[in-house]
Amino acid sequence: MRILIVEDEVKTAAFLSKGLKENGFAVDIAENGIDGLNLAEQIPYELIILDVMLPGLDGFSILGSLRQQNNQIRVMLLTARDEVDDRVKGLELGADDYLVKPFAFSELLARIRTLLRRGESRDIQKIKIANLEIDAIKHRVFRGDLRIDLSPKEFQLLLLMARRQGEVLSRTVISEQVWDINFDSDTNVVDVAIRRLRNKVDDPFQHKLIHTVRGVGYVFELRK
Ligand code: CA
Repeated sequence: MRILIVEDEVKTAAFLSKGLKENGFAVDIAENGIDGLNLAEQIPYELIILDVMLPGLDGFSILGSLRQQNNQIRVMLLTARDEVDDRVKGLELGADDYLVKPFAFSELLARIRTLLRRGESRDIQKIKIANLEIDAIKHRVFRGDLRIDLSPKEFQLLLLMARRQGEVLSRTVISEQVWDINFDSDTNVVDVAIRRLRNKVDDPFQHKLIHTVRGVGYVFELRK
C-alpha cells in the first residue's frame, strides 16, 4: 500500500510520513504541487494525501488535473481553512474525503483505512459474512443453503450495507445511494425498506447482521 503525501510544510509531511510508515504503508513525499502531480501521474498510488495550499500548483488544480485525465486514485484533501466553500469545491472536483487542519493522526488513519476498504470492496463480486452470501453479479443472496428472494431495491440496499460493513450509514446516505434522489425529510422510506430487508435476511436466523444506531442510521456487521 503506497501513499503519496503532497505537503509543503516539512514538519507536517514528516509527521504524517512517520505515522503512516509505522502503520505499514510505503510513503513518498512531494513538497510542491508540480512534483506532486508528476509523481501522481507516474506511480499507481493507493491514495494521495493532498494539501490544498501548495506552492507551484495548488491541491485543487492537481485534483482537477488528475480527474480530467480520468485518474481515479483516491484523494484525501487537507485544508487549513474550515470553509464550506473549500470542502464543497474539493468534493465537486472529485476528492474522496477531506480533513481540516489541525487534525489528530488517529483520525487521519481511520479515514484512510475506510477509504482504502471502500475502494477494495468496489470490485468484490461475492461478499460473505457469517452464513450470508451475496453474489453481486448474479444478484443472488443465500443464508446457508437457503436462497433469499429480494426485490431489486432490497438487493441494492443489502449490497450497499454489506460493501460498507462496519460503517454506520445515515438514512440520507442510504436513500441517495439506493434511490438516486434526495428524499429530503422522507427518510421513512429507508426505515420501511430496512424493516422488509431484516424480515427476510435477519429475522429467521440466529445471527443478526443489520443493526440500528439510534439517531444516526444503520450498520451492517456481525456482532458476537
Ligand atoms: Ca500548505
